[in-house]
Amino acid sequence: MPRIIIKIDRGGTAHCAVCQHSMELASGLQLALADNLSPVCAGCGRQHAAPLLGLLKLAESTQRIVWKERPVMDLRLEEWLALEAAAWNYAKGLEDRPHS
Ligand SMILES: [Zn+2]
Repeated sequence: MPRIIIKIDRGGTAHCAVCQHSMELASGLQLALADNLSPVCAGCGRQHAAPLLGLLKLAESTQRIVWKERPVMDLRLEEWLALEAAAWNYAKGLEDRPHS
Protein backbone atom coordinates (compact mmCIF):
# COMPACT_ATOMS: atom_id res chain seq x y z
CA MET A 1 0.00 0.00 0.00
CA PRO A 2 1.51 3.35 -1.00
CA ARG A 3 2.11 5.81 1.82
CA ILE A 4 0.36 9.05 0.87
CA ILE A 5 0.78 12.55 2.28
CA ILE A 6 -0.57 16.05 1.57
CA LYS A 7 1.84 18.55 0.02
CA ILE A 8 1.58 22.11 -1.23
CA ASP A 9 2.69 22.57 -4.80
CA ARG A 10 2.08 24.39 -8.06
CA GLY A 11 -0.64 23.23 -10.39
CA GLY A 12 -0.17 21.67 -13.79
CA THR A 13 -0.53 18.44 -15.69
CA ALA A 14 0.95 15.26 -14.20
CA HIS A 15 0.52 11.52 -14.08
CA CYS A 16 -0.64 9.80 -10.92
CA ALA A 17 2.28 7.96 -9.33
CA VAL A 18 0.01 5.03 -8.43
CA CYS A 19 -2.29 4.44 -11.45
CA GLN A 20 -0.44 6.51 -14.09
CA HIS A 21 -3.60 8.34 -15.23
CA SER A 22 -3.09 11.88 -16.49
CA MET A 23 -4.57 14.58 -14.26
CA GLU A 24 -4.80 18.35 -13.88
CA LEU A 25 -3.49 19.58 -10.55
CA ALA A 26 -4.72 22.81 -9.00
CA SER A 27 -2.13 24.95 -7.26
CA GLY A 28 -2.20 24.34 -3.50
CA LEU A 29 -2.88 21.19 -1.50
CA GLN A 30 -2.27 17.92 -3.32
CA LEU A 31 -1.95 14.23 -2.50
CA ALA A 32 1.53 12.78 -3.06
CA LEU A 33 3.61 9.70 -2.37
CA ALA A 34 5.56 10.10 0.86
CA ASP A 35 8.65 8.50 -0.67
CA ASN A 36 9.24 10.89 -3.57
CA LEU A 37 6.43 13.52 -3.46
CA SER A 38 5.07 12.39 -6.83
CA PRO A 39 1.40 13.40 -7.23
CA VAL A 40 -1.44 10.97 -6.52
CA CYS A 41 -4.94 11.29 -8.06
CA ALA A 42 -8.12 11.59 -5.99
CA GLY A 43 -9.24 8.09 -7.03
CA CYS A 44 -6.08 6.49 -5.67
CA GLY A 45 -6.25 8.76 -2.63
CA ARG A 46 -9.81 7.57 -2.00
CA GLN A 47 -8.69 3.94 -2.30
CA HIS A 48 -5.48 4.14 -0.24
CA ALA A 49 -5.89 7.15 2.07
CA ALA A 50 -9.57 8.12 2.30
CA PRO A 51 -9.22 10.13 5.55
CA LEU A 52 -6.38 12.15 4.01
CA LEU A 53 -8.42 12.89 0.88
CA GLY A 54 -11.33 13.91 3.12
CA LEU A 55 -9.06 16.23 5.09
CA LEU A 56 -7.74 17.76 1.86
CA LYS A 57 -11.30 18.41 0.61
CA LEU A 58 -12.26 19.91 3.96
CA ALA A 59 -9.25 22.24 3.82
CA GLU A 60 -10.09 23.25 0.23
CA SER A 61 -13.71 24.02 1.13
CA THR A 62 -12.62 26.04 4.14
CA GLN A 63 -10.04 27.96 2.06
CA ARG A 64 -12.63 28.85 -0.57
CA ILE A 65 -14.94 30.30 2.07
CA VAL A 66 -12.33 31.94 4.30
CA TRP A 67 -10.64 33.67 1.37
CA LYS A 68 -13.81 35.68 0.90
CA GLU A 69 -12.81 37.45 4.14
CA ARG A 70 -16.28 37.59 5.60
CA PRO A 71 -17.35 36.89 9.17
CA VAL A 72 -18.31 33.23 9.59
CA MET A 73 -21.90 34.13 10.46
CA ASP A 74 -22.32 35.77 7.04
CA LEU A 75 -21.92 32.46 5.21
CA ARG A 76 -24.65 31.51 2.76
CA LEU A 77 -26.56 28.27 3.29
CA GLU A 78 -24.74 26.66 0.34
CA GLU A 79 -21.40 27.45 1.97
CA TRP A 80 -22.46 25.95 5.29
CA LEU A 81 -23.69 22.86 3.45
CA ALA A 82 -20.40 22.58 1.51
CA LEU A 83 -18.44 22.74 4.77
CA GLU A 84 -20.74 20.25 6.43
CA ALA A 85 -20.45 17.83 3.49
CA ALA A 86 -16.65 18.10 3.48
CA ALA A 87 -16.49 17.53 7.24
CA TRP A 88 -18.88 14.58 6.98
CA ASN A 89 -16.83 13.01 4.18
CA TYR A 90 -13.68 13.43 6.24
CA ALA A 91 -15.30 11.81 9.27
CA LYS A 92 -16.71 9.02 7.10
CA GLY A 93 -13.22 8.38 5.70
CA LEU A 94 -11.89 8.04 9.24
CA GLU A 95 -14.72 5.69 10.13
CA ASP A 96 -14.18 3.48 7.05
CA ARG A 97 -10.43 3.09 7.38
CA PRO A 98 -9.12 -0.33 8.33
CA HIS A 99 -8.30 -0.74 12.00
CA SER A 100 -4.71 -1.70 12.76
ZN1 LIG B 1 -4.21 7.37 -9.45
